[in-house]
Amino acid sequence: MPDKFSPEIRSKIMSHIRSKNTKPELNVRRFLWHMKFRYRIHYKIDCGEKIVKPDIAFPKDKIAIFVDGCFWHGCPKCYKEPKSNVEFWRNKINRNRNRDKLDDELLRNCNWKVIRIWEHSILENFEETMEWLVHEILSFRKKVN
Ligand SMILES: [Zn+2]
Repeated sequence: MPDKFSPEIRSKIMSHIRSKNTKPELNVRRFLWHMKFRYRIHYKIDCGEKIVKPDIAFPKDKIAIFVDGCFWHGCPKCYKEPKSNVEFWRNKINRNRNRDKLDDELLRNCNWKVIRIWEHSILENFEETMEWLVHEILSFRKKVN
């Protein structure tokens, strides 16, 4: 079935959906702040061929945290292909997935630890996910220091 919207308008609609879905990231930030973790947002990491901007960064410990929306990052558990503009979305989500992979690789190459959290684990299992996250951060800090 052809989409009743042009790809541009469709993209606008979907980005609105995206901006609403930034809430999981805020929840993670609030939690970390409350736990007295002092992180940076909008932090730019110069990886040589590219600047990578994680959602949450600990520059001193070189820990980069991404909170990935299940739709936009093509979560293997949740992602469902939209019924219209199949080709457009397939390309877009594939590009996003490839960019994520490249970013991870670049960050690891310059000794950053990468932690990715799926939106669904925050929505479905916040406590457990945060426990896991704290554990990851602390164990990486121990290794570094
Ligand atoms: Zn998911």
